[in-house]
Amino acid sequence: MSAVQNERAATPETPIQFLRGVGVARASAFQAMGLTTVRDLLFFLPFRYEDRRHPAQIASLGRLEHPVVLRGRVVSAGAKVSPIKRVKIFEAMFDDGTGTLMLVWFNQAYLADQIKRGDRLAVFGQPHVSKYGGLQIDSPDWEKLDDTGEGEEEGSIVPIYSRVSQVPPKTVRRIVRNALDSLGAMPDPMPAELRKRLGVIDLATAIHQIHQPQELTEEFLARRSPAHRRLILQEFFTFQLALRVRRAGEEIKPKTRRVIIDDAIRDEVKKILPFKLTAAQRRVLKEIAEDLQGARPMYRLLQGDVGSGKTIVALIAAVIAIRNGHQVALLAPTEILVEQHYQRIRQLLDDSVVIAKATGAMAAKERRTFLAGLREGLIQFVVGTHALLEERVVFKSLGLAIVDEQHRFGVEQRQSLFAKGETPDILVMTATPIPRSLALATYGDLELSVIDEMPPGRQRIRTEVRGSLQIDRIFDFAEAQIAGGAQIYVVYPIIEESEKLNLKPLSQGFETIRSRFPNRRAAMLHGRMPSAEKEETMDRFKRGEIDLLVSTTVIEVGIDVPNASLMLVMDADRFGFSQLHQLRGRIGRGPRKSYCVLIRDERAPEEAKDRLRKFAETIDGFDVAERDLEIRGPGEFLGTRQSGVSKFRFGNIQRDQEMMESARNAAIDFLASQGLPAGEKLVGDLLGVTLAAANRD
Ligand code: ADP
Ligand code: MG
Repeated sequence: MSAVQNERAATPETPIQFLRGVGVARASAFQAMGLTTVRDLLFFLPFRYEDRRHPAQIASLGRLEHPVVLRGRVVSAGAKVSPIKRVKIFEAMFDDGTGTLMLVWFNQAYLADQIKRGDRLAVFGQPHVSKYGGLQIDSPDWEKLDDTGEGEEEGSIVPIYSRVSQVPPKTVRRIVRNALDSLGAMPDPMPAELRKRLGVIDLATAIHQIHQPQELTEEFLARRSPAHRRLILQEFFTFQLALRVRRAGEEIKPKTRRVIIDDAIRDEVKKILPFKLTAAQRRVLKEIAEDLQGARPMYRLLQGDVGSGKTIVALIAAVIAIRNGHQVALLAPTEILVEQHYQRIRQLLDDSVVIAKATGAMAAKERRTFLAGLREGLIQFVVGTHALLEERVVFKSLGLAIVDEQHRFGVEQRQSLFAKGETPDILVMTATPIPRSLALATYGDLELSVIDEMPPGRQRIRTEVRGSLQIDRIFDFAEAQIAGGAQIYVVYPIIEESEKLNLKPLSQGFETIRSRFPNRRAAMLHGRMPSAEKEETMDRFKRGEIDLLVSTTVIEVGIDVPNASLMLVMDADRFGFSQLHQLRGRIGRGPRKSYCVLIRDERAPEEAKDRLRKFAETIDGFDVAERDLEIRGPGEFLGTRQSGVSKFRFGNIQRDQEMMESARNAAIDFLASQGLPAGEKLVGDLLGVTLAAANRD
């Protein structure tokens, strides 16, 4: 194998192995880090920098807290074995003309061949006072100065890279410097016009600056410099464009159905509306209606805080589709929620529409009728849990697919619903208010509609944090509320999805409540109860025949009982912010003053208390989501299924929200003005550059 003689001949595609000073052994060390080509090295970015431009003087070191650069001469050097720890050490006495100090290296006896008396060195490290009273630096970074007193790195800002095992950091830096020489041969995948639109500098300059900054400005250290912005925007833009190109590819097929909103439909909608829509609901509905009538399938995320009134919007969309002769499917995460939707649709539409429910609990005969009804198009509207996703569920003509509480479903599940129709219109709803940046990152290819206004007459919910020792007073308060006509949720932290469902805390809690409120009507509710029992319990609660509903988090999503105005959350420290917010969203839905009491374990750690207090202060769902995101990070926030979104390498969707938005807008404009083939090509070019690097994480 012949090494590249002249480094300037290296291109980004050159294998690292052929760079001078690398060879087979080192190449495999780099390979172990996922670094194969020169291009990989270019995107192997420093995670920190050391400023070695200003040498200090030994005489004026004093009690220093930070590492320093020193320049001086070795006055004596030698290896010895430490008597105490029996490690080999190499020591050099170092003199910079103002004073001396000792340089000490452990287990690096080979240094005896490299550092000799009389050598001029630049050293970098943290000085401390040795047990002999003199100054000492342990394991300093060092560099020999040539006759002119110049070193390669000394006197500059030194980039610090992740460790490559078996290759000394200084050597890694030298190899990366060699790689940088190939930048001239690296084309910029972003056309100049696009760079201008995004306001970014060219790629080669950006990469050079990040490896070898001239100054460590605040902006640079905060990763907001033009160089950083270039890499982040490129990454976000690539992501957004790729999503849109993929989507556009799927959309080539225009809708096979037509949807028209005529006066008859308009009148019907007006007639069935049980209340006056808020301005936000009207705006969102208009967006949806336009999509429905368009030539291409709708693909829209409807986002709105808990209780903002998404359901009615979805139901009107459903009416429009049904009156155009198409079937509608509404997917919801729990049987209880399915039941609630079902009832609400019945109320709204009377018998003028044939509705069915699909849950796991159907009897065989019932199921057969149901499946046939769907297949033959007799059933116009179906509401269901994941039972709806089974393969044997076939539609005659699915025109609109709605997913409620979409974060409860995985990508594949949503997809398998959409696949049940030919180019169906798609509406996904979320009550977990995803911060805009995250929504764009995750669903960059969805259109976004936001209901940012609450229906009128909503009560501000008062949230309080209490210790478990105060439970008696809390129960007194609950008693007074019931006496005033209120209904109460008592929630225990049992994870419904858990395989090993342990209902003991719940049933114990239920017993406690029963004996504490002997004259009140209490009932228990959890996801594993037989469906009929669940339905019956929820119905009774809705009709006001139950005062205290003792439940798991099964009531977390969607449940709507306006007369319930007090919620007690037991062991609240075990819930995440978003979950608490969802739970809290069950109350404050009617005219009653509403209270959410978070009861924490007395033994819960201090942070948990702080966290709950913070939550109590946060009312707006978007703030809650932002905080949740801060605490848990996007992967967990969205559930493991979607953790792919946290995989950005340069950008951080939380820190760089504004860049995500401009990337999205630029991607939309690019496709609109340049067309799909140009978009496809650009995605290819962009991925060619970043993929090799991005694959590594
Ligand atoms: P979410 O957005 O959390 O799904 P829902 O659709 O369940 O919220 O609506 C919450 C409650 O607000 C329901 O009782 C619903 O009937 C009521 N509601 C929705 N929109 C309005 C409105 N414009 N005026 C009055 N009440 C409304
Ligand atoms: Mg809802």
